[in-house]
Amino acid sequence: MTPAEYALLISEPRIAGRVRDLAGEIIRNRGDGELCLIGLMKGSFMFMADLSRELSRRGVPLLTDVMTVSSYREDVRSSGRVSIIQDITLDIKGRDVLLIDDILDSGLTLETVRGHLHVKGAAKISVCVLLAKERPGRAGPLPEYTGFSIGTEFVVGYGLDMAGKYRELPAIYALDGGSPG
Ligand code: 5GP
Ligand code: MG
Repeated sequence: MTPAEYALLISEPRIAGRVRDLAGEIIRNRGDGELCLIGLMKGSFMFMADLSRELSRRGVPLLTDVMTVSSYREDVRSSGRVSIIQDITLDIKGRDVLLIDDILDSGLTLETVRGHLHVKGAAKISVCVLLAKERPGRAGPLPEYTGFSIGTEFVVGYGLDMAGKYRELPAIYALDGGSPG
């Protein structure tokens, strides 16, 4: 099913193949012991579900938790405010942490959360994003792992929403002609 005004951008088999490749890359770079996956809600729920099962199939011991952050989109450009709505409950002191997010845009969300996890004492923090948007002058370092690089179009599906809709779609769709509404 394709939502009205959207076009298929990344199909289910392409996503599945990339998730397997990412799991391989993550395994090659990880240390001994448990890997602590932290997913940013709500956008990363589907990606995290698939990636965590792939890592599990390959025998990686995991700890999993989620965090909810809110970026005030209007303020993002001017003040870069990102606030933590719900924090993790796991103790990540000394842990190897993999932060998972749906999409990298301005980079402010991930930069803020990275700093937060650092303060909590993580030994190592890597970031894995499903999508990276084309964006000159982005804040913070690039993620260690990126699923797909895309253009500037607004995308939905596979966890990504438009006002709560379309998160359930198994593939990724792009809105023709920029931002919604
Ligand atoms: P930033 O990197 O600007 O701090 O924020 C990234 C967040 O903005 C993502 O986690 C996502 O919630 C939202 N976002 C950015 N671009 C898109 C998009 O094309 N589609 C959707 N659904 N959300 C987006
Ligand atoms: Mg998000």
